[in-house]
Amino acid sequence: MDIQKIITTPLRVSLRNLVSSTMLALLFACLLLISGSGKQPPRFMLDQAQEAISVVDGQSWRTASDWLAGRKYAVLTFDDGPYGHGVDDKILAVLHRHHAHAIFFLVCSHINDATSPLVSKFEREGNVVGNHSYDHLQLNRLQGPELRHQIEDCSSRIAHFTGHRPYYFRPPFGMTSSSVKLAAESSGMRQMLWNANSEDSWLTKPGQILYWSLEQTADRSILLLHDKPATADVLDQTLTNLERRGFQFVLPTQPSSNSALD
Ligand SMILES: [Zn+2]
Repeated sequence: MDIQKIITTPLRVSLRNLVSSTMLALLFACLLLISGSGKQPPRFMLDQAQEAISVVDGQSWRTASDWLAGRKYAVLTFDDGPYGHGVDDKILAVLHRHHAHAIFFLVCSHINDATSPLVSKFEREGNVVGNHSYDHLQLNRLQGPELRHQIEDCSSRIAHFTGHRPYYFRPPFGMTSSSVKLAAESSGMRQMLWNANSEDSWLTKPGQILYWSLEQTADRSILLLHDKPATADVLDQTLTNLERRGFQFVLPTQPSSNSALD
């Protein structure tokens, strides 16, 4: 009996098995990687905590493909507009250049003769208009008719320009309470908070806004930005850097039937 043959045959067989399994695994990974590329992003919805997004009807192959390719998703939100003086248009132009869309949470007292054309323009360009209250007050300190005015009358005013009532509501300063949340729900809206903060409500240097936007944004984040000059100045750089990190910018679903006018 050939002793060398007895010793080396199982070794050769197991080595061959190992190579075949590795090749198969690599092939499977490549197929997964290719399967998700170039496809539309999955559909997202606001998660239970109202601070991030989750996938609607998630498919595990898609999750695996996104993970292997380093694909990530984030929602861009701009508070306190419309600003006017060309700032909103600058933001819209940058979004357009990046094929990105955002949610604009408007303060209704900022809608005047000069800024009102922007309300419908946001939506015409594929963005979503949300309610950020009438006067940007601390709503958790209000009750009854005052609270209702801040929320409901702002929705009616937005509907006057867009033709439909907003579906998303964000309380000013993120200050909410069970009454605020309930009042928003009574007006047919869902409250949306955030879990990534560009800190542009108080920082004014574009570099600082860029730093915090990149530092805080993670997969499925809702990023808080503001409709203001410094943010507009650094937005192109912010989106370019996030895209390099694999981010795509998505909008969560909203029912199309939310069209009843005031
Ligand atoms: Zn605000």
